[in-house]
This record gives sequence, structure tokens and C-alpha cells, in this order.
Amino acid sequence: MINKLSVLALALFCATVVMATTGLAQPFALPALPYANDALEPYMDKLTVDIHHGLHHQGYVNNLNAQVKTFPKLEGMTLEAIMAKVSTFNAAVRGNGGGHYNHDFFWKSMAPAGKGGEPSAELISAINYAFGSLGELKKQFNQAGLTRLGSGWAWLIVTPEKKLAITATANQDNPLMDIAEVKGTPILVVDVWEHAYYLSYQNRRASFLNQWWPLVNWNEVNSRFAKALR
Ligand code: MN
Repeated sequence: MINKLSVLALALFCATVVMATTGLAQPFALPALPYANDALEPYMDKLTVDIHHGLHHQGYVNNLNAQVKTFPKLEGMTLEAIMAKVSTFNAAVRGNGGGHYNHDFFWKSMAPAGKGGEPSAELISAINYAFGSLGELKKQFNQAGLTRLGSGWAWLIVTPEKKLAITATANQDNPLMDIAEVKGTPILVVDVWEHAYYLSYQNRRASFLNQWWPLVNWNEVNSRFAKALR
């Protein structure tokens, strides 16, 4: 028999499950991939995804949760809130908080080839305005990833002026951080750490960047873009 209390309990349970599965609220948890580990082949091989998600990303999550125990100030903060004040914490919070945020965002930026849809008319119009064409966006984005010395990320962001821009960050930094040189709302990212491509592409980062585009989840990018404009 369903009474008001059980409905309330169910609602609370569902809310808790939703919070836990987003992975961006505490306690931080490794979000499941939105596809099978071999679904990105041949552009991104299964072993790379196994290690990158199961070991690297899990490591950032574990280390971030460990930091929460030593920084009571972090308790209850969402990951986005931590990013906005990251300069007030230590290097471990910056590296592992960014590591968790960036990887979660990266996995959701991809879909199996042929399943990610196409850029929306609104997004294409903004891309043409900012870069001239989709081809030119890809060229500039790849260039940003290629010239990021050492480890880091290339991003497509919506600036505070609501324009599209490309930026690259070092290590696990991102454009949401208060320390970022170029700030904005990310809508697409690629990981250019060697662990993202080395098993298949070895030192050929340019080749990885050129071959990565069929994996872009444009449906997700479209929705992030629309949200960023609100
Ligand atoms: Mn990575």
C-alpha cells in the first residue's frame, strides 16, 4: 500500500541516486561510462579506455575524496564550486578536482562513431561566426591541443561575452577555475595527456587529434551550448 511517507521515501531515494550518479557531488564517485569500453574503437582502443577510466580517472576521484577529509572547508561543495575557488586550496585539490571534472566532461563529450549526431544549426552559425567554418574550428582546436606543451587539455568554450573560443589548459586545469587565463563555460574537450592516446598512437598526438573527431558527441555539445547561452 502506498502512503505519503513511502512516496516521500521513494523521492528521496531517487534524488540520492541521481546525485550519486552525476559524480560531481559528494562523496565523489567514478561515473560509469555512457558506452561500452570498446565502443570508441577503432579511434580509441578498449585497453586505453579501461586504463584511462578505471585507473587514471578513479585515481583522481580517490585522491579528491582523501583531500575532503583533510580540508573540512571542502565538505558539501560541488565540484563546480571547488573549481571556482580552486586557488584557495592546495595543489592536490587543483590537480585531482580538475582531474575528476575534466575526465567526467571528456567521457560525456564522446559517443561511439556515428552515434553523436551533428552540430545544431545554432551551433554551426556560432562556429561560422567565430571561426569561419567547422573545418577551421577543428584545425584551430587540434592546433591548440598539439601546441599544449606536456600534459593538458584543449577546450571549446563559451566566453562570458557569449562567444565561442578555443583555449588550452595545462595539467588538470580547466576554464572554470579561478586561476584560468581564459575563463568560460566548456562545451567540448579533448584530453591530450599521453595516457589518452599512447597505446594506439604512441607519440603521434597530431594523428590522435585528427582521428578523434568521429567520436565527438555533438548532441551533448549542442545541449551544453544552448545551456551556456541561457
Ligand atoms: Mn586523462
